[in-house]
Amino acid sequence: MTEQTTGGAGQDVRLTGISKVFGDFTAVQPLDLTIPAGSFFALLGASGCGKTTTLRMIAGLEEPTTGAVLLGDQDVTHLPPYKRPVNTVFQNYALFPHLDIYENVAFGLRRRGIKSVRKQVEDMLELVELGPYARRKPHQLSGGQQQRVAVARALINHPRVLLLDEPLGALDLKLRRQMQLELKRIQTEVGITFVHVTHDQEEAMTMADTIAVMNAGRVEQLGAPAELYENPCSTFVANFLGQSNLLTADVTGKQDGDLLLTVHGHRLAMPTARSSADGTKVLVGIRPEKITIAHADTADTVADSRNRLTGTIADSSFIGVSTQYVVRTAWGQEVAVFEQNMERDARLVPGAEVVLHWNPAHSFGIDAQQDID
Ligand code: ATP
Repeated sequence: MTEQTTGGAGQDVRLTGISKVFGDFTAVQPLDLTIPAGSFFALLGASGCGKTTTLRMIAGLEEPTTGAVLLGDQDVTHLPPYKRPVNTVFQNYALFPHLDIYENVAFGLRRRGIKSVRKQVEDMLELVELGPYARRKPHQLSGGQQQRVAVARALINHPRVLLLDEPLGALDLKLRRQMQLELKRIQTEVGITFVHVTHDQEEAMTMADTIAVMNAGRVEQLGAPAELYENPCSTFVANFLGQSNLLTADVTGKQDGDLLLTVHGHRLAMPTARSSADGTKVLVGIRPEKITIAHADTADTVADSRNRLTGTIADSSFIGVSTQYVVRTAWGQEVAVFEQNMERDARLVPGAEVVLHWNPAHSFGIDAQQDID
């Protein structure tokens, strides 16, 4: 893909203090956000958290109540959508049903009065791997193919930023996964900035370089997928990005760079990244797949006496890739454990007494007092 075809590199998007109020309802709280040029950025959150409104403010489809939208160095806050170097792909694709794929993709060029469109349209169809489908009508394509036409149609206008509003929402799971990789490939190839709105954490983690997790109109945490998964800042983020076990613990001291804690008499340690003073309470988070599980009779091989909990299997389900256990601790808390490496006849059955163990480095701390019930 040449620079001439894509319109050059992406632009960064800077939102400074933008908010949106509808009547007496604040959909987006004042927000500062920088989306680096050429990155794949995801706005992730549950329905109604304000992600589409944020995207629409970048597109110019919604006027911010306060604040500014900058694309590169240009303040576009008061520019209409068609004067911004952005384009949007919507969930319903919005293809013209009576035009064939070639003409759908050519549409933006023809509207601008460009006569010689063939090379650009063919390049675009090649980019989205739809060359052989040029003369079909949209209804003769699968959902995933229609979605790629919508991307080609948006990219042919040389946007510096492509906005994608739940573009895979209408596809079934298998196709959605394929298209996630496909969109990522296209973004890498054209090198422009993609801002992708989704409520699907797996989708955001598969595609994005950076994710902004939104909750109730504000960004709760911003970071690379692994960073958010391994070190979420709140219970909301911890639970939104996969499953986690959260134990309420008392801080008792520090040792070898770790924070020492107790939970119902069990000694725990965790990295001090978000440390708390002695005597305070903290939530210790452990992802289910980070916990090893062993029958109480065979658990002596676990050397470190810290981060050992005992419990009873309350439930067990084999789901192919792993066995998922629910373990009930002596104080009645349920702890989820995903075990991938257990031989069939070693699987634990409900009622079995077990010992759980994890590496302190694989846990995270959430010390916000409001997160502790
Ligand atoms: P979804 O995934 O369901 O699209 P979202 O996170 O994209 O959700 P938004 O569409 O940004 O959410 O909407 C945020 C909030 O603002 C919602 O409560 C919504 O009802 C409200 N809202 C959006 N547009 C308007 C409008 N034009 N008038 C009044 N309220 C609106």
